[in-house]
Amino acid sequence: MTDRYQAVLLFGAPGAGKGTQGSLLGKIPGYFHMSTGDMFRSLDKHSELGKVFFDYSSKGELVPDEVTVALWHQYVHAQSLLGIFKPVTDLLILDGIPRTAAQTGLMDQYIDVLGVIHLVANDRDEMVKRLSRRAMQQKRVDDAREEVVRNRLDVYDRETKPVLDHYDTALVHDIDAIGSPGAVLGKILQVLAPIHEKNFPNSLEN
Ligand code: ADP
Repeated sequence: MTDRYQAVLLFGAPGAGKGTQGSLLGKIPGYFHMSTGDMFRSLDKHSELGKVFFDYSSKGELVPDEVTVALWHQYVHAQSLLGIFKPVTDLLILDGIPRTAAQTGLMDQYIDVLGVIHLVANDRDEMVKRLSRRAMQQKRVDDAREEVVRNRLDVYDRETKPVLDHYDTALVHDIDAIGSPGAVLGKILQVLAPIHEKNFPNSLEN
C-alpha cells in the first residue's frame, strides 16, 4: 500500500472554517488543498452528477458514499496526471472527505493519513451565524435556510464525527477554531509543519 497518497485531513463541523483554512494552506509551497465541496460545486449543473449533488446538498444531506469516493478518486487522479497535484512532493490536505464511516473504509485504500486537524467549534449559534453570512456572500443554496443549516450540523454530529474514532488518537489534533483566520492558521501550522518536514524532507528542492 505504498502508493497511497500521503494526506492530512482537515476536519470540523460546517462553519468551523475548513474552507478558509484550507485555501490559506493551499497557498503554501508543498501543501495541496483539495475540497470535496468545491469539487461538487464545480460540476456542470446540467450533468447527471451535478443534478445528484444539487438534490442532496440543497437539503443539507450528504451525497451517497460510493459516488463521492469514486468521483474524488477520478478527480485526484486527473489533477496528478495534469501535474497540478504532485503526490511525491505535495502533502495532500483533504477537506470534506472522508465524511462518513463508510467513506473512511473506502478511502483507506487510497490515502495514508499522517494526521487529522480537528477544528473544534462548539458554539452552535456562532456556527449558524457564520454559515448565514457565507450564504449571503457566496449565494450557497445549502446555507440559505436556517433549517437546512441546522440539518447539516445534525448530519455532522451523527455521521461525520464518528470518523474521528477510526484514527489513532495520537494522529488527531484538536484545534480551537474560534478566533481570527490568522490566529487559527498559526495553530494549525504548528502541527502541520513538523508533519510536512518529516514526511517530505526534499519537498522544496523539486
Ligand atoms: P461544509 O463544509 O460547509 O459542510 P462543503 O462545501 O464541504 O460544506 O460541502 C457542501 C456539500 O457537498 C455537502 O453538504 C454535501 O452535500 C456535499 N459533500 C461534500 N463533501 C462530501 C462528502 N465527502 N460526502 C458526501 N457529500 C459531500
